[in-house]
Amino acid sequence: MPATDEDLLIEDAVSQRKSHKRGYNLLATLTLAAVFGALGWFLLFWLRPLIKSIPLLPLGTVTTTLLVVGIAAFAAAGLLIAGSIVVNPWSKWGDRLPGACPLCGQRNLRHETVQHAGWEDGHPEAGIKKGPRGIVTLCETPGCAYATAKVTHPSTS
Ligand SMILES: [Zn+2]
Repeated sequence: MPATDEDLLIEDAVSQRKSHKRGYNLLATLTLAAVFGALGWFLLFWLRPLIKSIPLLPLGTVTTTLLVVGIAAFAAAGLLIAGSIVVNPWSKWGDRLPGACPLCGQRNLRHETVQHAGWEDGHPEAGIKKGPRGIVTLCETPGCAYATAKVTHPSTS
């Protein structure tokens, strides 16, 4: 039995939502940023003054290097944080939908317009086939399988 347009759209929506979650890992990014920040702080405000405080040591190059590396570490930390914001980590899949989920009762419904595009089975030479388009509603509650699709543009085939 061929999948219905609704099934295709729900499938696409679920995989889209998965890639949203996989593509972004705020905790890992912030941890890395914290490590760089700590490294920069350590080099600039601890190691560099320590070396500078040692008299009669011709360590001008070393302290300059520490300064540069420390600033670079700070810059990396800043870039990581900025990058995680640009990637828009707090955006979840879809737009919030008012109302409660009919399955779990939580107000966790989100909807998004989904355009299905894929290779037709057995006809790769035909190129990417534009499939159906519609609005898919998914529930964000973990373990809740509520999913509906409303096809706005049925597949042409
Ligand atoms: Zn639900």
